[in-house]
Amino acid sequence: MDDAGEVAPPQRKRRHRRRRKILRIWDLQGGWCSGCGGPVPRQGLRPGDPDAPTFDHFIPASQGGTLALTNGLLKHKRCNQARGSAAPNGCERVWREVVLAKLENSVQPRASLRSLSASTN
Ligand SMILES: [Zn+2]
Repeated sequence: MDDAGEVAPPQRKRRHRRRRKILRIWDLQGGWCSGCGGPVPRQGLRPGDPDAPTFDHFIPASQGGTLALTNGLLKHKRCNQARGSAAPNGCERVWREVVLAKLENSVQPRASLRSLSASTN
């Protein structure tokens, strides 16, 4: 009917940046949801899909949490919505430790990945 689906350039840019952040947190958590523990598809889903990857905030923004990766958790869209602004549970605390540890050790993530796959061959 109309062109409601068309996205203006500035919004597309913002969407792109958010998308890159989601992919980074996806990489840090190896694609596992911090809500249900299931695998999160990395690409190919529309942002509105309940299984789409989202960037959840360990400390909710409404409680002073930042938008930084150090405050990030990977979640399905539906798991993010189910949590709302509840305090982080045990699983979320563990995942955050994983994310923080990986960020601390991310000196050469690509190189270490390569050597890892080389040693398994
Ligand atoms: Zn989930």
